Amino acid sequence: MLKSKKGIFIVISGPSGVGKGTIVKELLERFNAWYSISMTTRPKRENEIDKVNYFFVTKEQFEENIKEDGFIEYATYNNNYYGTPRKEIDNKLNNNIDVIAEIEVKGAKKVKELYKDSVLIYILPPSFEELETRLRNRNTEDNTTIEKRLNIAKEELKQIDIYDYVVVNNTVEETTNNVINIIESEKSKVSRNNIII
Ligand code: 5GP
Repeated sequence: MLKSKKGIFIVISGPSGVGKGTIVKELLERFNAWYSISMTTRPKRENEIDKVNYFFVTKEQFEENIKEDGFIEYATYNNNYYGTPRKEIDNKLNNNIDVIAEIEVKGAKKVKELYKDSVLIYILPPSFEELETRLRNRNTEDNTTIEKRLNIAKEELKQIDIYDYVVVNNTVEETTNNVINIIESEKSKVSRNNIII
């Protein structure tokens, strides 16, 4: 017999341009989970949709949310705020719905503190050169921003040991399969603890 189960909190991180967005999208198509839409003060990119990719807000609105304790975590990244809205997360987890959030390293660390059973996954590029090429080909940022993002990526890599798993993104298909396998085995670990004899 199984006790009533809880969902697990899955955090996906990785350097800018590694393809996290594509992997998360693919993941959500093949795996039943709830995606936590972050709030940010970063300007919306042309291909992004408000309330789908992010809740795009002003600095004032974001700071108002901080005051109201509206985030489980928030961080600044390249001079913009990014935060995970508190509303709904616990509700989903308590109803056995898995939560997927795409956040950077400081936020991931905070999630692990708050949710001990969370699973932190870091997506790595095949190489740094490849990452730079992907970031430039994406054509969504100017040169200065690309340089800053690459430097942040190098800093992030120094903290990679806070993660439970590291997956190299060679192809979307392979990476998504690997991430799904990780989640599935983590879920059976949780259910083993929940067996009532
Ligand atoms: P981007 O501007 O490329 O969409 O995101 C920049 C970085 O912020 C990425 O590493 C992304 O994972 C991270 N990020 C997105 N949402 C959140 C969030 O809610 N909290 C934190 N801490 N980081 C986030």
